[in-house]
Amino acid sequence: MADNNFDVIVIGGGPGGYVAAIRAAQLGQKTAVVEREHLGGICLNWGCIPTKALLRSAEVLHLAKHAADYGLVIKEASFDLDKVVQRSRKVANQLNGGVRHLLKKNKVTVIEGEATLAGKGQVAVTKDGAAVGTYSAKNIVIATGARARTLPGLEDDGKLVWTYRKAMTPDTMPKSLLVIGSGAIGIEFASFYNALGAKVTVVEVMDRILPAEDEEISAFARKQFEKQGMRIITGAKAGNLRKTDNSVTVAVEANGKTEDITVDRVILAVGISPNTEKLGLENTKVKTDRGHIQTNQWCQTDEPGVYAIGDVTGAPWLAHKASHEGVIVAEHIAGKHPHALDVRNIPGCTYSHPQVASVGLTEKKAKDAGYEVRVGRFPFVGNGKAIALGEPDGMVKTVFDAKTGELLGAHMVGAEVTELIQGYGIAKTMETTEQELMQTVFPHPTLSEMMHESVLDAYGRAIHF
Ligand SMILES: Cc1cc2nc3c(=O)[nH]c(=O)nc-3n(C[C@H](O)[C@H](O)[C@H](O)COP(=O)(O)OP(=O)(O)OC[C@H]3O[C@@H](n4cnc5c(N)ncnc54)[C@H](O)[C@@H]3O)c2cc1C
Repeated sequence: MADNNFDVIVIGGGPGGYVAAIRAAQLGQKTAVVEREHLGGICLNWGCIPTKALLRSAEVLHLAKHAADYGLVIKEASFDLDKVVQRSRKVANQLNGGVRHLLKKNKVTVIEGEATLAGKGQVAVTKDGAAVGTYSAKNIVIATGARARTLPGLEDDGKLVWTYRKAMTPDTMPKSLLVIGSGAIGIEFASFYNALGAKVTVVEVMDRILPAEDEEISAFARKQFEKQGMRIITGAKAGNLRKTDNSVTVAVEANGKTEDITVDRVILAVGISPNTEKLGLENTKVKTDRGHIQTNQWCQTDEPGVYAIGDVTGAPWLAHKASHEGVIVAEHIAGKHPHALDVRNIPGCTYSHPQVASVGLTEKKAKDAGYEVRVGRFPFVGNGKAIALGEPDGMVKTVFDAKTGELLGAHMVGAEVTELIQGYGIAKTMETTEQELMQTVFPHPTLSEMMHESVLDAYGRAIHF
């Protein structure tokens, strides 16, 4: 008979859950993970990874179309949408299989089905309505993630109005597209479909796109997207969807006027809703705030022995935040003394063209927090590698505490900045000042030299601009 008793049961096998399970098992805890759909969660199957595969196809197409700029001859660059999507699904499936392998290697039991808290230390699992079993554990980690949020009047129908799952598995290439919401997810889809030739309009309720980013970076990115042909309407509210067989008309209200915009498809990217329903939380002391589970710095809920991590606990909704919390939880359960997560050191990336990446405080947030700041900037056009790559559009901005020299934030837009940002991530985690950053030797020729120059600029010492 199967042994149903564990030290740790993790509910949800996304980047939060599977990482927590592996780390717990590494620390000698007898661990199980319950997953109702796909190991790897949204990130590997419907989020981070498949979108990056799609964006890579868009990037290669863009380069092929601009081959002449590099002295190359490509007669006609075009695409096969089915094959682009197939590649993205293949990449997701490959990684999903990899997670299963890692869990097995670490002797984590995988239970397939939907889990509910069923009394102290008890987890009941069902599959397709039938009971799979009841399991017990000293500690339970809720890592159930989130799903696309819809708003009243703005619901997806899987045909004309899409959320991310349908947007990354289109059966038809829309000629025109309206993206509602300009956070990372909305902008990545806008960038993908724009590169493939759709006429893309982005509607954002806030006064700028990528509202979490530094204002200057948002403005820079907006100009680039507009140069590529996107239409962007900010301070705008989308409402009232009217559908025909193959088109949607959306009433967009901005600057006191309402405009009807008719498109082939609409993508809703208006945030996410936490998966807390049907978890049995009502019989526990677990507290939620607008659905998100409330936790302390060790990811503990108010119910003893119940932890929560990742998207289900709230912003920032990022895979690396979920995974990092997974490690904290496992170590806390095993009686280690992990560092609490400092949200100010979590980088955020948008993989559009151009890319956007940041860590820490924006200039405005730093000023609002009372800091006297020193700001450095460096443009891509001043960097040899950027010119050689044919990527002269972008900038690197750094924000320092003028009193102490502490790096408060770093903000970038341009080619490959999502790979560069971690340099500043390490600097922030180590609480470095401008001195260490200036003394660091950056290899030449690299885009990373701009990270150095931006710091130098904050102190009036930039060399190459
Ligand atoms: C289109 C898109 C692009 C994204 N791109 C990025 C990116 O580039 N970088 C980034 O950092 N983040 C990105 N994200 C966000 C990222 O996917 C999430 O932050 C991350 O997946 C959260 O991990 P998680 O483990 O908390 O939850 P999830 O990945 O959502 O995993 C939760 C898992 O729990 C399972 N589950 C839920 N309820 C139950 C239950 N009762 N019983 C059993 N199983 C259950 C679900 O099936 C799911 O597999 C993107 C998201 C989307 C939608």
